[in-house]
Amino acid sequence: MLQARTDKEGMLEGSQPLQDRVAIVTGSTSGIGYGIAKSLAMAGCNVVLNGLGERAAIETVRARLAQETGRQLLFHGADMSKPSDIGDMIGFAEKELGAVDILVNNAGIQHTAPIEDFPPEKWDAIIAINLSSAFHAMRAVIPLMRRKGWGRVVNIASVHGLVASVHKSAYVAAKHGLIGLTKVVALETADAGITVNAICPGWVRTPLVEKQISDLAATEGLSQEEAAVRLLAAKQPSKRFAEVGEIGDAVVFLATTPSITGTNITLDGGWTAQ
Ligand code: NAD
Repeated sequence: MLQARTDKEGMLEGSQPLQDRVAIVTGSTSGIGYGIAKSLAMAGCNVVLNGLGERAAIETVRARLAQETGRQLLFHGADMSKPSDIGDMIGFAEKELGAVDILVNNAGIQHTAPIEDFPPEKWDAIIAINLSSAFHAMRAVIPLMRRKGWGRVVNIASVHGLVASVHKSAYVAAKHGLIGLTKVVALETADAGITVNAICPGWVRTPLVEKQISDLAATEGLSQEEAAVRLLAAKQPSKRFAEVGEIGDAVVFLATTPSITGTNITLDGGWTAQ
């Protein structure tokens, strides 16, 4: 795991650089969010997990993370498309764990189709979950962070916040919007001990991407693994999927580095260098 810096001296600290900080990671019942929650808990945070799914399966994930990391792991089932649920979740974290020091806006969905076939309800859902939820969550937590004089927000955007691909109108619009929103809130909080940044992953093999691999396999008559190789070859020069732990380490790095704000870290195996 990454070593990290103290806020005061810029010196390296021990292995729990975020000891007793409280984090909310949205969409952390699977994929990248799960990896981020684990990295933050390993760095010393108590964490509120969030996401959709079957309650018994979520409880298994929660209990395993708590046991592996020795930290407090709670779950709140806020639907990130509903502003009132988002407010409830932030109130829950404050009541149960005493603060919200770190907010990771990670929940996201995908739908691919050409613009003329793109269902308007899918557009609305993607904008709500991938973009508006971050606005509502930041709007609610920034006052708490200002009172404490310390806060970290990490918005999980995407390479699609920087460049486009066909058939992803809503996703690309939402992710570009999220990067703009990140910069605005970073400027508004820059002198308040708060940092706001984005992370832009390329391909990470999670359920969200597995569906795109399956779609490609079906349309091209390929096996799942042949389709995965084809997907990588088209965009990601490293020809490997990023691991969820790499995204988690990047979040810990941002949470422990007070001078980085208003920018993004790209983990895309060279995708956007082309
Ligand atoms: P995933 O499908 O594995 O996980 C998505 C998470 O969001 C799940 O926990 C799910 O329950 C949750 N979620 C979905 N709708 C929700 C809602 N309405 N309310 C609350 N939670 C909800 O996907 P992932 O690949 O881990 O994606 C996580 C984030 O990373 C997304 O924002 C995605 O856009 C971004 N991202 C993923 C990749 C990739 O290659 N996987 C690349 C770049 C960016």
